[in-house]
Amino acid sequence: MFDVQNIRKDFPILNREVNGKPLVYLDNAATSQTPQQVIDVIVDYYANYNANIHRGVHTLSQEATDKYEQARIKIQEHFNIKKAHEVIMTSGTTHSINLVSNGFSSLVKEGDELLVSAMEHHSNIVPWQMLCERTGAELKVIPMNAQGELVMEDYHKMLSEKTKLVFCNHISNALGTINPIQEIIDAAHKVGAAVLIDGAQAAPHLKADMQSLDVDFYTVSAHKICGPTGVGMLYGKEEWLGKLPPYQGGGEMIAEVTFEKTTYADLPHKFEAGTPNICGGIAFGAAIDYMNAIGFDAIAAYENELLKYATNELLKIDGLKIYGTAEKKTSVVSFNIKGLHPYDIGSILDKLGIAVRTGHHCAQPIMDYYKIPGTVRASFAFYNTKEEIDVLVKGVERAMKMLL
Ligand SMILES: *Cc1c(COP(=O)(O)O)cnc(C)c1O
Repeated sequence: MFDVQNIRKDFPILNREVNGKPLVYLDNAATSQTPQQVIDVIVDYYANYNANIHRGVHTLSQEATDKYEQARIKIQEHFNIKKAHEVIMTSGTTHSINLVSNGFSSLVKEGDELLVSAMEHHSNIVPWQMLCERTGAELKVIPMNAQGELVMEDYHKMLSEKTKLVFCNHISNALGTINPIQEIIDAAHKVGAAVLIDGAQAAPHLKADMQSLDVDFYTVSAHKICGPTGVGMLYGKEEWLGKLPPYQGGGEMIAEVTFEKTTYADLPHKFEAGTPNICGGIAFGAAIDYMNAIGFDAIAAYENELLKYATNELLKIDGLKIYGTAEKKTSVVSFNIKGLHPYDIGSILDKLGIAVRTGHHCAQPIMDYYKIPGTVRASFAFYNTKEEIDVLVKGVERAMKMLL
């Protein structure tokens, strides 16, 4: 039995009130909440062994280094990554994607094609547009349909020997769609293209296996899986990470520095210039432990129940339309009410203590596709309840009474 009430006790923030009402936190696709187990790890770091890593001979530095490298191993094991040095610690998905897109500056040229899905987060669009501006390569868009699914027939037709890179999210943050990434990866590899999958929205809901996917790059942000902000992972296949030049220069990423010539450190340090988010990295490992202790199968089953319940209850509201009705989706419900602006609904919900996201969700092309300014997005985590969904539905009805 999935004991949600017991799980909720791990999250101190869920006890607070907002505008005099109990907090109903339904903005998990933007960031997840942090359990006490992870908060304890953060406090323990600063209270007991805060020190810079990899450089010191002293005890604190060694303790911090050990814990930080243990976190890398936890990440490696969680995502079934072959080698620990294929785990690059970054500040999150945005940093990870920029690291790769910058590295490809010398590896793509005019005449090359890069394929991007129509439902990407801006952080998986803009860095590639910048790469195309630098190199003259062309960005082409894999279209989506009204359900919010990629048109895979078109994707297969777009692939050619000109295709150098394909990038796509594993799960859409705006629509909840689970994309057929295995098919995307396999087809891209047949034409010799590399694939980057943005896993920021998938990591909270499922456990992705890097070796069985055979993906070239995969990105994660710790703050979406109960970890802190400002830390994340770039997974890269060793052969690709070897080909890419360093992204930033500085301490930690060098083998030897003279004013004539600098040689770079081995993986992963080549891509980890400067003092990293040490505490964040260690807490990232603790967040993975926390989620695994609950179990991803249990999380997925429970969240799917929440998704079905929320979808059914919301659709009972007259004039409510849900965007993103893919057959395979996770617990995200993006919706609008006929005649109302999403921002106005969101503001009234906030007065009732309900936190939802309103706007384009960093995915403006999706909103353009549907010809809407944005949506109200309720995104559920394993610590949400059906009772909270009832509060949301009542809140939306209340907003309609006030605004319509
Ligand atoms: C949140 C998110 C990002 C951006 O992650 P950051 O942590 O802000 O770098 C990118 N893509 C998707 C699908 C996301 O959900």
